[in-house]
Amino acid sequence: MFLKRIELQGFKSFADKSVINFDSDVIGIVGPNGCGKSNINDAIRWVLGEQSVKSLRGSSMSDVIFSGSTQRKAVNMAEVTLVFDNSKHILNVDFEEVEVTRKLHRQSGEGEYFINKAPCRLKDIVNLVMDTGLGRDSLSIISQGNISAFADAKPEERRALFEEAAGVAKYKKRKNESLSK
Ligand code: ATP
Ligand code: MG
Repeated sequence: MFLKRIELQGFKSFADKSVINFDSDVIGIVGPNGCGKSNINDAIRWVLGEQSVKSLRGSSMSDVIFSGSTQRKAVNMAEVTLVFDNSKHILNVDFEEVEVTRKLHRQSGEGEYFINKAPCRLKDIVNLVMDTGLGRDSLSIISQGNISAFADAKPEERRALFEEAAGVAKYKKRKNESLSK
C-alpha cells in the first residue's frame, strides 16, 4: 500500500485545487521556507484523523482553511483527498484503490468524511487505517524536528518509539486500559 496522490483545495496555503502525484517509493519535498512543505504533511495527517489543532500548527481547526493572501480572498472550505494503492488489500476494503476525503466548512464548522466518495464518520477512517502502520500516531510520517527529537530523547522516550515501530505499543495501551478499569 502506498500513497499515490494527494488532492488539496482550500487547505492552508493551497487555495486552488492542487494535485500532487507520488510516483516513486521515496519522495522528497523540497522548496524555500514557507512554500508549503509542512502543509502537505499536515494535510495527510488531517485526513487520517488528526484532531489536535496544536499539532496542525493552528489555534482553531478552521485555521486549516485558506485564510486569504494579498492576491486572493479567503475560502470557505478545505478539502483534501488521499488516494492509496490498495492492491495488497492492507486496507480492509475490497477496492484496489482507496480514496479518503476530509472536508471542513468554515461557517458551520462542520466536518465531512468520505471513503471512496461514500459519506462516513471520522471513526470509520480511523478504524480503516488503524493497525496498518498508517494511523495518526504511527511512524509512517516523520515530521520536521522528529529526527533531532529522536537523537536528543531520553532512553525511555526512545524506547517508546521502538515499541511503536515494533507494533508493541498498541498491546501496551490495551494492557494499561484494562488495568485501569
Ligand atoms: P519551512 O521550510 O520553513 O519549514 P514549509 O515549506 O514547511 O517551510 P509551511 O509551514 O508548509 O512551509 O507553509 C507555511 C505557509 O503556509 C506560510 O506562508 C503561511 O502563511 C501559509 N499558511 C498556513 N496556513 C494558512 C492558511 N490557513 N491560509 C493561508 N496560508 C496559510
Ligand atoms: Mg516546514
